[in-house]
Amino acid sequence: MDHYDLIVIGGGPAGEKGAAQASYFGKKVALVEETPQLGGACINTGTLPSKTLRESALYFSGLRQRGLYGIDYSLREGLTMQDFMHHKDDVVESERNLVRKNIAEHAIDLYVGKGQFKGANELAVLSGDGKTITISAHVFLIATGSRPHRPAEIPFDDQSIFDSDTILEMNRIPQSLAVVGGGVIGVEYASMFAALGVKVTLLDSRDRLLPFLDAEISELLRLRLEELGVVLQLNGRSKHFGKTAGGIRIELESGQCIEAQMALFAAGRRASVQGLGLHKVGLAVNKRGYLEVNEFYQTTVPNIYAAGDVIGFPALASTSMEQGRVAVCHAFGFNYKKRLAHMLPMGIYTIPEVSSVGETEESCKEKSIPYAVGRGHYANNARGQITGDKQGLLKLIFRRDDRKVLGVHIIGESATELVHLGMIVLESGGTVDSFIEMVFNYPTLSEIYKYAAYDGLGNLAGHKLREG
Ligand SMILES: Cc1cc2nc3c(=O)[nH]c(=O)nc-3n(C[C@H](O)[C@H](O)[C@H](O)COP(=O)(O)OP(=O)(O)OC[C@H]3O[C@@H](n4cnc5c(N)ncnc54)[C@H](O)[C@@H]3O)c2cc1C
Repeated sequence: MDHYDLIVIGGGPAGEKGAAQASYFGKKVALVEETPQLGGACINTGTLPSKTLRESALYFSGLRQRGLYGIDYSLREGLTMQDFMHHKDDVVESERNLVRKNIAEHAIDLYVGKGQFKGANELAVLSGDGKTITISAHVFLIATGSRPHRPAEIPFDDQSIFDSDTILEMNRIPQSLAVVGGGVIGVEYASMFAALGVKVTLLDSRDRLLPFLDAEISELLRLRLEELGVVLQLNGRSKHFGKTAGGIRIELESGQCIEAQMALFAAGRRASVQGLGLHKVGLAVNKRGYLEVNEFYQTTVPNIYAAGDVIGFPALASTSMEQGRVAVCHAFGFNYKKRLAHMLPMGIYTIPEVSSVGETEESCKEKSIPYAVGRGHYANNARGQITGDKQGLLKLIFRRDDRKVLGVHIIGESATELVHLGMIVLESGGTVDSFIEMVFNYPTLSEIYKYAAYDGLGNLAGHKLREG
């Protein structure tokens, strides 16, 4: 039996980065992945495919160029699913190769098969051809991720009713699409298909989109989605899904109906722990269906760690990678990455992008933090004019007494990149004045920070300062 310092189960971002971290510091590592492809949901079915499709949707719809050249760039005629998926397939393939190269360069032994615990130090690897081998280790990292929730009462056929994995197998672009579930995945796909000219209805049981966002940003996102043509059905719950000659019909609890050619059900994901043999090591999922860990990603069995989607919130590729690294550093006592950063940015790749970090106005009110707000508008920024995004907003929230930055919220072009500058100031305890002191390249979107800061100081002083 081969013995390792570390066995990682799952080759998604949490597993890959955890394995590479341990190997980098000289540990003997094995990575067990059930499917022939590395990269997990991040590369194969989730993050990267959806972000690449977003770029394709922007390209084929000509949305970015609309109005810039006095030409009406409308949707390319005769767009096929193959056109739409082409770039996605290229990106997925290149990223899979990069992960495979990373694993090889770190001399990590790769086992293709399903990992199943036999005990706290032994793992069976069940390969597709019916063979089983057993390997052992001092330390384990469970990084088996999550899969879409498929309620039994919904007649998924992956032809007209899809989940967020099988949507990538859609064989034609529908004329209409019902998206059930207004979480990040649902809203992203809704905006993407609407940009392609698909008539999209988005159903969500809550009264506002993405309620964790600052309310002003959430409202701006709602308006922008409606401008794209998305019909929002908030405060609505689906009661029954049925097939019709033209596609699908969703009856709502309110008695209303949504009819569309196709539907995407994107309401929730579940930890992938089936067949892992958790009971053999005395582990079980919690009430929400996830593995419980401490701040070092250690389960109640001290030599077994868990990271990524399998432990639940925030269930992002960005955080999963870091959790995998922190877990391994703790397990082997590496004096390196000791904790996950406490400020976690949120990137939402809708059209337009949204990104935020830190406190919202609502959370400041709840915590009774006296705060002030500064707003910078893309419309007043030269780069905003050049790129054609005249509706974007960058919003800074800072404490009234010491002017420390508390939150950054952005909707508009490159929001997910721009947020990092504010996050660094926030993380390092900087004040809103930092943005006023900095010199920014011109013309850039980053410069909007300076004008948001001027606006904020004007608001704080109770009058509008003249900018500049
Ligand atoms: C549509 C969509 C869009 C997303 N967009 C973003 C985004 O923009 N930004 C972001 O940060 N995150 C995004 N995410 C989330 C991100 O994809 C996940 O948080 C991330 O992939 C989780 O990484 P992981 O390593 O925990 O698990 P996964 O990526 O799910 O990988 C788990 C791996 O474990 C394997 N496995 C499972 N069980 C076993 C077993 N018993 N034995 C061996 N192998 C096993 C699986 O085959 C899989 O390869 C998105 C997700 C979806 C679905």
